[in-house]
Amino acid sequence: MTTQTEFDYIIVGAGSAGCVLANRLSASGAHRVLLLEAGGSDRSPWIQVPIGYGKTFTDPRYNWMYNVAPDPGLGGRTGYWPRGKVLGGSSSINAMVFIRGAQADFNDWERAGNPGWGWNDVLPYFKKSETHFLGETAYHGGQGPVYVSDPTAKVHTLCHRFLDTCTHLGIPPNADFNGETLYGAGIWPLNIKNGLRESTANCYLRPAMARRNLTVRTHAHATRIVFAERRAVGIEYLEGTTRHSARATREVILSAGAVNSPQLLQLSGVGDPTRLAEFNLPLTHDLPAVGQGLQDHVAVSYYYKSRIPTLNNELYPLWGKVWAGMRYVFNRSGPLSLSVNQAGAFLKSRPGLDAPNMQIYFNPLSYTNTSLKRRLLSPDPYAAFLMSFNTCRPTSRGSITIQSADPLAAPLIQPNVLSTPEDIADVQEGARLLRTLTAARPLSDIVESEYTPGPACQSEAQILEDFRARAGTVYHASCTCAMGADPATSVVNARLQVHGLEALRVVDASVFPYVTSGNTNAPTMMVAERAADLILNNHEYSTAHP
Ligand SMILES: Cc1cc2nc3c(=O)[nH]c(=O)nc-3n(C[C@H](O)[C@H](O)[C@H](O)COP(=O)(O)OP(=O)(O)OC[C@H]3O[C@@H](n4cnc5c(N)ncnc54)[C@H](O)[C@@H]3O)c2cc1C
Repeated sequence: MTTQTEFDYIIVGAGSAGCVLANRLSASGAHRVLLLEAGGSDRSPWIQVPIGYGKTFTDPRYNWMYNVAPDPGLGGRTGYWPRGKVLGGSSSINAMVFIRGAQADFNDWERAGNPGWGWNDVLPYFKKSETHFLGETAYHGGQGPVYVSDPTAKVHTLCHRFLDTCTHLGIPPNADFNGETLYGAGIWPLNIKNGLRESTANCYLRPAMARRNLTVRTHAHATRIVFAERRAVGIEYLEGTTRHSARATREVILSAGAVNSPQLLQLSGVGDPTRLAEFNLPLTHDLPAVGQGLQDHVAVSYYYKSRIPTLNNELYPLWGKVWAGMRYVFNRSGPLSLSVNQAGAFLKSRPGLDAPNMQIYFNPLSYTNTSLKRRLLSPDPYAAFLMSFNTCRPTSRGSITIQSADPLAAPLIQPNVLSTPEDIADVQEGARLLRTLTAARPLSDIVESEYTPGPACQSEAQILEDFRARAGTVYHASCTCAMGADPATSVVNARLQVHGLEALRVVDASVFPYVTSGNTNAPTMMVAERAADLILNNHEYSTAHP
């Protein structure tokens, strides 16, 4: 059976970006909006209870669970890439650390040929998306959909020891990573409210779902963009085995994320002609940058046995799990109401840098002995903690390419990490930073030993070899449909319109020209907030930015 329905806007993907767009584009009531989501409902305690992301991390009901290609930079290892496949997308399964990025990141986006994306341009959209714990200020919003909380009073006491150590080393405390500067050490702000996850499904989509002009279809997998000449006029999608198509009179907007937006473009004949010909896909438009330019943050954890109890002591024993559960159920408090990423820092690993180049995580627990499944609730059976680092602005680039004409087949994800000398040099500096921190008081007072990689791992070669053997994604895939002025090296223009085609935009983390210095959920929401304005005020914007 084939059904055909007509809408003004069709959005593919109800993730961090897609839910923002669905709300904003349907708000006036004037436009008919269709939101297609390949996954299903987010009504699960594992999604809503913050620490449940330890479970959804490997749950195929909510997760695409990609395996990436063997990566030479990681010693030929394959890696595991979770991505949200559910209302809210990855914002429903992520670790909820809320970081905008450095001001310089967005000024670099603008310098890369994207007028209107500098820090001063994007700040109003960051503010629009949030209700911040500091309230309305020059840097923060007080009335936006997503609540950003300060868990300082709730985090494990070990986090304060980490912060004292940073102070001891002359690293400034940073009480607001999303304010004047990213530099310094502090407690991570979290998109959590009253012990519940603030996903974009909860904050943007749910309040809009009662609108008659918004149609949301779940378990609806978009398979192809329909074109009339160069204009996108609709989408074909599958619900189970049933094929459907929907018509868009104004625009088709891809918000399927950094893996699936480029995949859908390629399946629709937009990409590198040689690659498309391999799969007998008719060429709609030659756009070689589709799927190229993939960036991500790649981190490695160092593990430390502790002389004093850590979160392991609370969460490993059965009674501890029961107690944590009771605290959550009766008070919405305790470790289940938080991320395990509790404290951290943005640091400069060498003199002369304008902006931090290293993100450090301090997690007051460890999980070396457990499999990927439910690891956050099954930490190691002894007192221990971990610290990890990743370079903020890696220069390596990978790719996403189809490896089949079947729209249900996974694309080939080639991360290509550590493929530049700069990124390799950062590994040495990151390791040195972690060891400087753990050797300083008061953290050094409670470190019994570094047990992974351990004291035998000292030389530059050993540190690099260890990184290649153990490092993994921090889940910040981006830049695969990058915005820019040149169609030879980018996919969308500064208005997020696909080069050379009409009525087709990409709005998600794939349009970042460079990955931001921190976590990618907040900047993805900002991109969608700004995109909604560009779409609704297309004419005014064109006039202001010729
Ligand atoms: C495990 C994990 C932890 C993370 N932790 C953090 C963190 O602590 N802080 C942070 O800032 N960021 C974090 N991130 C990253 C952040 O969540 C993402 O960068 C952000 O959510 C990306 O948003 P997006 O809109 O680009 O894509 P997504 O949110 O992934 O949305 C894409 C949506 O499109 C749907 N879709 C895909 N293909 C199709 C199709 N063909 N048809 C229909 N629908 C389709 C998907 O199912 C999904 O719902 C984490 C990510 C993961 C996976």
